[in-house]
Amino acid sequence: MTEQETLRANVESIRARMADAARAAGRRPDEVLLCAASKTRSAETVRLAASLPIDLFGENRVQELVEKQAANAYAPKPAHFIGHLQTNKVKQVVGCDLIQSVDSEHLLSKIAAEAQRRGLVQPILLEVNIGGEESKSGIEPGALWALLEAAAAQPSVQVQGLMTIPPVEEQPGEARRWFAAMRRLFDEAADRWKGDSRVRMEMLSMGMSGDFEQAIAEGATLVRVGTAIFGPRVYKV
Ligand SMILES: *Cc1c(COP(=O)(O)O)cnc(C)c1O
Repeated sequence: MTEQETLRANVESIRARMADAARAAGRRPDEVLLCAASKTRSAETVRLAASLPIDLFGENRVQELVEKQAANAYAPKPAHFIGHLQTNKVKQVVGCDLIQSVDSEHLLSKIAAEAQRRGLVQPILLEVNIGGEESKSGIEPGALWALLEAAAAQPSVQVQGLMTIPPVEEQPGEARRWFAAMRRLFDEAADRWKGDSRVRMEMLSMGMSGDFEQAIAEGATLVRVGTAIFGPRVYKV
């Protein structure tokens, strides 16, 4: 099989599994977007994937996002930033379709300032550290409310939902309780901001290659899948 054929077969099989998981949860398959997590993949591979039935790309290193944008590799699909964002790299990322990983007021204000300077409104998600892990990025669940208030006060950013990377679990199936906890937080946020268009709770980004079906069962509206589309990642040393 050519690389294109392999990618197509992988995407079609993931799409079928996503649709099954949605139906099993009483949801419509078109409620869940497929984000291809393309870190370490070349611009050529991304370009091949862009013609397949994925909804968007997710990139988690600034350098890779900038290079693949310059190579026009994502077109016609949107590209989201999904990695940890350092404040000194905000200028290179603002202007992308959506930043999924905003997790502090400091980062938020840098993004807002850059967006305002450029006269645009930057769509964002807030990243929640649902497992409360020391080493993980993401805001603690209890601190989400203050971050939402801060985001609502910035006209140059638009909160569209939440994102999470749950703790790595030993047993398959154990991620599900974290997804359920995320869903409760998402629903509470939607409730608190009902009728206030400054904060929208439309996107719940959770689930990766190993657990996207569980995430869909718990209400994910966007799953981020890398390995199951592109195969194992090879990191250069
Ligand atoms: C790499 C990555 C993914 C995809 O992980 P896979 O296990 O390869 O599917 C999802 N989300 C983020 C933030 C990532 O960095």
